[in-house]
Amino acid sequence: MERGEAKSKKAGGPPRLCCICNERRPVLKRPKTLQQICRECFYEVFEEEIHQAIVNNGLFKSGERVAIGASGGKDSTVLAYVLSELNRRYSYGLDLFLLSIDEGITGYRDDSLETVKRNELQYGLPLQILSYKDLYGWTMDDIVKMIGLKNNCTFCGVFRRQALDRGAALLKVDKLVTGHNADDIAETVLLNILRGDIARLSRCTSITTGEDGPIPRCKPFKYTYEKEIVIYPFCCFKSSLDYFSTECIYSPNAYRGFAREFIKDLERLRPRAILDIIKSGEDFRIATTTKMPEQGTCERCGYISSQKWCKACVLLDGLNRGLPKMGIGRARGGGVNGGDHKKETKAGSTVKTLESKQCGSLDF
Ligand code: SF4
Repeated sequence: MERGEAKSKKAGGPPRLCCICNERRPVLKRPKTLQQICRECFYEVFEEEIHQAIVNNGLFKSGERVAIGASGGKDSTVLAYVLSELNRRYSYGLDLFLLSIDEGITGYRDDSLETVKRNELQYGLPLQILSYKDLYGWTMDDIVKMIGLKNNCTFCGVFRRQALDRGAALLKVDKLVTGHNADDIAETVLLNILRGDIARLSRCTSITTGEDGPIPRCKPFKYTYEKEIVIYPFCCFKSSLDYFSTECIYSPNAYRGFAREFIKDLERLRPRAILDIIKSGEDFRIATTTKMPEQGTCERCGYISSQKWCKACVLLDGLNRGLPKMGIGRARGGGVNGGDHKKETKAGSTVKTLESKQCGSLDF
């Protein structure tokens, strides 16, 4: 006799049932709603909410080629699996690909890429891997050797963003999807408020960004809680999901880590807090007087840039000249309307310091 049943019997009532199907025994309390539900209903409701986010926001059109940014971690692995399932089930008509970036981090990315290679076979999705070494001539191991563990994620985040766009262009895809989940977005909202970076604040809550850039990026997990992504593989009957869960050896876990902890505390008190923070970010409006940078192209590499050189070229130039700090900087001050936190470099470009997510970056 199970504990719930024993309790119900003791109380003299019938055993408690799943509050969605009202038929089976509940096996978990859903983190997002605190409903007691069975495994089957969790599985269904998890996938259905992602399908609704895709349909309600018109993320894809039939016939589109879509690259899934795949790191081998839980978010992108679950995304690859769920998106291929939904594509089949609801006939989205998408051509899906896996796109991975090899930052050149020994003992971390080399292992996680092995997971992505297995995913390629498991899900039957073609895989493209691009490396920092090939694109920029530097691995993250080389960069950390030169600059140490401060600002390493700034280099990595800027290079990754561009590498993903280059990979997407190579695959000739129409969209790039990433596994950023609701917790990630809430954290980013909070960080952008703390920095007074209102221009980023309005963009970071959008489910699709970069429509004016080379490849639009979508976040089908915008409303999906991280805890549910963790639970999903255990409820998923059709496949045992294979993912890599080690943190990057260069993760500084600094400012973003505090925001993450704060949000987890809020979530414990009130699970809706995550969705409410996202909603608050969405409801911010940029004043019409705020000057937004005009997009052009980098004089050096042709990548999209609002300055003479793109951020990656500025950073790369600093590395190649043995002056890696040249491209890193952060201006003091800045308020709600003027807080850009940028520093002008000799190359006439600007670079913001980025905080790392667990492995990721403020890459959206
Ligand atoms: Fe790159 Fe992420 Fe590692 Fe930072 S934590 S070095 S952004 S992989």
